[in-house]
Amino acid sequence: MVYGAAAGDIAGSRFEFNNIKTKEFEIFHSRCFFTDDTVMTLAVAMACREYKIHKSLRLFKEQLIDEMHLLGKMYPYAGYGGNFSVWLSTKSRKPYNSWGNGSAMRVSPTAYFTDSLEETLALAKASAEVTHNHPKGIEGAQAAAGCVYMALNGASKDEIRSFINDNYYKLDFTIDEIRPVYTFDVSCQGTVPQAIECFLESTGFEDTIRNAVSIGGDCDTSACIAGSIAEAFYGIDDKTKNKVLSYLDEYLKEKIIKLNE
Ligand SMILES: [Mg+2]
Repeated sequence: MVYGAAAGDIAGSRFEFNNIKTKEFEIFHSRCFFTDDTVMTLAVAMACREYKIHKSLRLFKEQLIDEMHLLGKMYPYAGYGGNFSVWLSTKSRKPYNSWGNGSAMRVSPTAYFTDSLEETLALAKASAEVTHNHPKGIEGAQAAAGCVYMALNGASKDEIRSFINDNYYKLDFTIDEIRPVYTFDVSCQGTVPQAIECFLESTGFEDTIRNAVSIGGDCDTSACIAGSIAEAFYGIDDKTKNKVLSYLDEYLKEKIIKLNE
């Protein structure tokens, strides 16, 4: 876990404000770096590890707030959105009704610490609610986490597509159709369905990342979300994992390796 999200984040990092509309690019380039997507996904993972022991959503939320504040202080310039930066710097413990894609970019670990789809959706909702308590913020987190859970537990792409179509978003577009016109959109509803489609149309892990970066927009975040689903569905080889780790500092590296033991 976290590898897929981080791989997408790292691959998309150099194109977030400099979009490319092609699948032809070097995924792990020397100008790539990790951003807030990786840092906050780790925060959720750390809080989920505790949740697995006590199974209390109330405690989980308190711990997630603590983890996000801690990591936000360690990595203050990771590229947080404006409102989230204020929430971090003021040490706020109150949500601010966000519908931004941050709730979906960080949510993937919830699927690894739960025993049913229902439990994943409940934990995903809780993970969003500490900041992104707007219905659209919760919806984005649940949709992304639901895909990861289903992928981890043997669901087919058709089943995942139906789950999203029936409960969250209409996936009535193709990546080729949206690539020429898709632009920067930090909302859940403008990022999560696109990221899911990038996974659904992919032929493998790397192809998922290429799809997500190629549509442009907030592509480190869409690649992070798509990558987290792709990791659960296809798995990630050791070479790619090591490549991801090579972009991280010792602290993040150690945490991610430990989480996956
Ligand atoms: Mg980012």
